[in-house]
Amino acid sequence: MAAAAAVLRAPSSKTESYVDTKRRDDVRQANIIAASAIADAVRTSLGPKGMDKMISSANGEVIITNDGATILNKMEVIQPAAKMLVDLSRSQDAAAGDGTTTVVVLAGSLLKRSLSLLSAGVHPTAVSDALHRLSIRAVEVLHSMAIPLDLSNRDALVKSAATSLNSKVVSQYSSLLAPLAVDAVLSVVDPAQPDIVDLRDVKIVKKLGGTVDDTELVKGLVFDKKVSHSAGGPTRVENAKIAVVQFQISPPKTDIEQSIVVSDYTQMDRILREERNYILGMVKKIKATGCNVLLIQKSILRDAVTDLSLHYLAKAKILVVKDVERDEIEFITKTLNCLPIANIEHFREDKLGFANCVEEVSVGDGKIVKITGIKDMGRTTTVLVRGSNQLVLDEAERSLHDALCVVRCLVNKKFLIAGGGAPEIEMSRQLGAWAKELKGMESYSIKEFAEALEVIPYTLAENAGLNSIAIVTELRNRHAQGEINSGINVRKGQITNILEENVVQPLLVSTSAITLAAECVRMILKIDDVVIVR
Ligand code: ADP
Ligand code: MG
Repeated sequence: MAAAAAVLRAPSSKTESYVDTKRRDDVRQANIIAASAIADAVRTSLGPKGMDKMISSANGEVIITNDGATILNKMEVIQPAAKMLVDLSRSQDAAAGDGTTTVVVLAGSLLKRSLSLLSAGVHPTAVSDALHRLSIRAVEVLHSMAIPLDLSNRDALVKSAATSLNSKVVSQYSSLLAPLAVDAVLSVVDPAQPDIVDLRDVKIVKKLGGTVDDTELVKGLVFDKKVSHSAGGPTRVENAKIAVVQFQISPPKTDIEQSIVVSDYTQMDRILREERNYILGMVKKIKATGCNVLLIQKSILRDAVTDLSLHYLAKAKILVVKDVERDEIEFITKTLNCLPIANIEHFREDKLGFANCVEEVSVGDGKIVKITGIKDMGRTTTVLVRGSNQLVLDEAERSLHDALCVVRCLVNKKFLIAGGGAPEIEMSRQLGAWAKELKGMESYSIKEFAEALEVIPYTLAENAGLNSIAIVTELRNRHAQGEINSGINVRKGQITNILEENVVQPLLVSTSAITLAAECVRMILKIDDVVIVR
């Protein structure tokens, strides 16, 4: 008892113990360095004059892209802290859809400043808390700069979609893709819930051939497949009555693996006759409802249609599209305003959808099925993206996704903000001024982080081949004189009012970028050990 008390006695001030923090510091430093390396990798692709990356994967697949989220997603990152930056870009993609490079570059810059703060002796918790306060204040600054937007102002929407397309490989087509993205998103907004857009209601169908110029918005449905007309069925139907079926039009199979051996011809004839009658019965039932177009879900259990059933369907003048994916069914039934039919017994006329025309059309070197003039069409839209090769086609789709997300952001939160580095420099300036009012370590840390935000204008200028120090200094001066909308005009290579250049972006993209970047950096700072579990 006495011995225990002796051990528990607090050490006297004379015998101050030495705590070795080397390992923790090393872990932190290694994490920060690895994560900054990721940020440096995408830094050159920021902005309209940014470079693109060619990503070649182990299986020989090649991708050319400018999208931060895509670049990072395809990179094989092993270091766990570096992986957090990949996830950061992914979260920005989910939250706003655009600004995926910005968020990573910001995080990288904040991390570098954290490292110098740590080596100056500031405790990681203090750094993290300062960053938290900074991000809240930064969002306030952004809000104060924001310009309210009216959704009826289509022009402003098109401008911000065009800004997001500016930096893409397909930027030369932004005059076509930007209005298209705006129309696509606005057409799926439900007046009952004017703030919500579900981008699942905008379907993007890619078809090789032609150029990106041939990309079009289709009011209706498009299937990237042919009509099944091997038995001579129709390829074009007017006044279509369309059924979406989830059952198979083929003879049933036995439940368990077993084989039936038929050795005599009369029995064989009987089986064939039964099969024929079974299918004929189904086709007759379908025809009786007036249905003349069948969209058949892909089946893995047995053939969705057989030669025999196609033959009878062709005789009944029913157009057949088979192998419709399971996950497309919801979109299709919503568009056609009809119900999927899971069983032939439930095949009734009230479950059908109606359209003026269903036809197979040749585009490029393939064929697609188009359904147009749908009666009581649901709030969905289809974009048929075209491109002369797979690389362009894929990048066009990714860029269009960014543009759609930008418009969605604006519908969610109806505020615009100037681009071209204007918000970042304004945040940096105001937060720097704020830091002067604070005291001690906090003031020092916030000053450092405020300067870190300048990385965006620096990078924009650098990537455009401008003298970044001169440009950013001038930009800071202009902002100090109260011109909060001055930004880097990369085309002219000087500072101008960036709103006049029509470079605008959704407020949500900027606020979510700074919030997410700060959050991620704080998380990395708080890690002081890596435990590997096998
Ligand atoms: P992200 O993946 O983060 O969206 P981008 O490569 O699209 O990255 O670059 C976005 C940045 O480029 C934003 O800061 C935006 O303000 C800026 N930007 C876009 N177009 C222009 C332009 N025409 N002039 C100046 N800056 C621009
Ligand atoms: Mg962008």
